[in-house]
Amino acid sequence: MARKFFVGGNFKMNGSKASIKEIVEQLNAADIPDSAEVVISPPALYVHWAEKHLTNDKVKIAAQNAFPKASGAYTGEISASQIKDVGADWVILGHSERRTIIKESDEFVAEKTVHALENDLGVILCIGELLEERQNGETVEVCTRQLKPVVEAVKDWSKIVVAYEPVWAIGTGLAATPEDAQETHAAIRKYLSEKIGEQADGVRILYGGSVNGKNAHTFNDCPDIDGYLVGGASLKPEFLDIIKSRS
Ligand code: PEP
Repeated sequence: MARKFFVGGNFKMNGSKASIKEIVEQLNAADIPDSAEVVISPPALYVHWAEKHLTNDKVKIAAQNAFPKASGAYTGEISASQIKDVGADWVILGHSERRTIIKESDEFVAEKTVHALENDLGVILCIGELLEERQNGETVEVCTRQLKPVVEAVKDWSKIVVAYEPVWAIGTGLAATPEDAQETHAAIRKYLSEKIGEQADGVRILYGGSVNGKNAHTFNDCPDIDGYLVGGASLKPEFLDIIKSRS
């Protein structure tokens, strides 16, 4: 099954009104190939700001997190319906920085995923192993453990994009090799096909971890790598090189 190339830009806790407007204006002016689906994810405070300035309908917006309740006494949290209300169509869930720093469990990430899907958001679901887990040969085990509560709870995977992001590759400049990344992506797809059947053929699996304008094309021949989730480089003009890397 043909899977559309997907590039997500995770701004993390970076940016200001001025810098986010500048990035959005660069994307407005950019010649984005029809073959690419592009989603940018500013900090929650700037989702509405980005939406207000975005005129290129080839680019969509994601929040970086969503709480699994509609509303109520959850100080500091934001809901999926609020994210929709300010013009975003996607949310990033389970990023390793939230799993490791904020201590989000696999089950909580699954609960958030279900709630976001119920509110018609697309979900960029992040998984990936720590360096120590990789060194212990536990990469696939960790990824499938993280996916398990989601496959148990979600029947329709059409609005989920999985982002495989080895934690040791995030922000380090040490991207996984195309061979290593492909091997893990294939294992993730195999696990998904065992659990959700033929739907697994249509699920985009992104690679994330130190992707930049220079190395993005090196993953082009990997059959199970359907795009990228990009951190640092999504704040720079080279983000456009990544978007164009398969055209
Ligand atoms: C990320 O945070 O999702 C990420 C992949 O970061 P970077 O591209 O900076 O490694």
